[in-house]
Amino acid sequence: MNYKISVKEFLELSEKGEIDYDDFSAKATDEADKLQKKYNFFRFINKKKPKSGPNLHGLPVSVKDCICVKDMTSSAGSKILEDYKPPFDATSIKRIKEKGAFIIGKTNQDEFGFGTFSTNCAYGAPKNPLDTQRSCGGSSGGAAGYTAATEFPHIAIGESTGGSISCPAAFCGVVGLTPTYGLVSRYGLIDYANSLDKIGTMGKSVYDAALMLSVISGHDEKDSTSINIPKKNYHDMKEISKPKIGVPKEYFLNLDKKIEKATWNAIKKLESEGAKIVDISLPTTKHSVSAYYIIATAEASTNLAKYCGMRYGVAIDLQGSFNEYFSAVRSRYFGEEAKRRIMLGTFARMSGYRKAYYLKAMSVRTMIINDFKKALKKVDIIAAPTMPILPPRFTEIEKLTPLQCYQMDLLTLPANLAGMPMISVPCGEMTGLHIIGDHLQEEKIISVADRYEQVK
Ligand code: GLN
Repeated sequence: MNYKISVKEFLELSEKGEIDYDDFSAKATDEADKLQKKYNFFRFINKKKPKSGPNLHGLPVSVKDCICVKDMTSSAGSKILEDYKPPFDATSIKRIKEKGAFIIGKTNQDEFGFGTFSTNCAYGAPKNPLDTQRSCGGSSGGAAGYTAATEFPHIAIGESTGGSISCPAAFCGVVGLTPTYGLVSRYGLIDYANSLDKIGTMGKSVYDAALMLSVISGHDEKDSTSINIPKKNYHDMKEISKPKIGVPKEYFLNLDKKIEKATWNAIKKLESEGAKIVDISLPTTKHSVSAYYIIATAEASTNLAKYCGMRYGVAIDLQGSFNEYFSAVRSRYFGEEAKRRIMLGTFARMSGYRKAYYLKAMSVRTMIINDFKKALKKVDIIAAPTMPILPPRFTEIEKLTPLQCYQMDLLTLPANLAGMPMISVPCGEMTGLHIIGDHLQEEKIISVADRYEQVK
């Protein structure tokens, strides 16, 4: 049987008992192995013979390496957690398993999520299946690449702190859905920056991404930041008619020309379908890179403090004083970017600098939220390009300074700092249309993205 079918078709056929699940799952795993050799999407491929379950009928789901899956390598793309196999499941994973999904593997990522191009992976960069000379985007690069390349029905679970779902989704030509901060429990997520981290989904279609959000979202007592609202079916929402779409002028400065054109074509298409286009301004956009990299590194540096080879992280032969031992472990097993961020974040938190950097960044974050709130009083959603550039070639990335890499995040950082939901939907080759909504307005962004996907 030919398994080149959509998730929807897979679920329908499974419901009717028309999928030979042993054959299907063996072939899906076999394909994952082949893709791994060519593109390096995975940290681990699950070779256990899966069973079909209820609801999702053993649908293959890949999980970003930073999300804990019981007894499965969960190293957050880092050498310091090389052989870590959690004794428990993250809440999102528990929910997926209860619905009968098959966890096909753990996907490659930038170490702890530190990166935009998946070139800070301790286990080698994944290659973009649309052009292997180019990056998959980061940090959920393996997740997006595999979603694009697999011919089997599949949905990916990713994670975004500052754009790690939207960016790789745009670069690999798939859909990436980042929910409102707190909608999906972070219990069992290996933290990057706690006030920013969101677990989200990726799929070949808006439906796929929305379906998986329905499964993993919902209140969790184990995460005190988890929002307590009734569970919703995001894949089964009514369409909003004639949405008002805000287009922020600040998001169109210094864009690659191809991206500018593709974005406008998408916006015009939505207009011809009845949407009303409104020019808006988000003046604090230009401060988002500075604010984000102070807040994110401050939080990351505290989170990474525990990896010292005692309770957490690879242990080596005990030698010297505590400080000497900790330094030996951390120097050897953290990558260059992780070390850079520990130093940046620690500096920003030092008592003498707290006011000048960390507290100022927090005020800017509030201004960014206020900008969005003000704009979203006038419009239903905001539409913009996801990334300002096409996926760069590895040879180009080598030449970028860390600061130049950070600046590439300009368009994904503001909504991430504000904790607002966003979805990137392909709108041109290796280009995404970014649709941002107000807190908990997932229905609106999914509805507009779904509409666009159908008419484009
Ligand atoms: N590129 C951003 C960073 O390096 C965002 C990464 C992420 O969302 N995990 O911090």
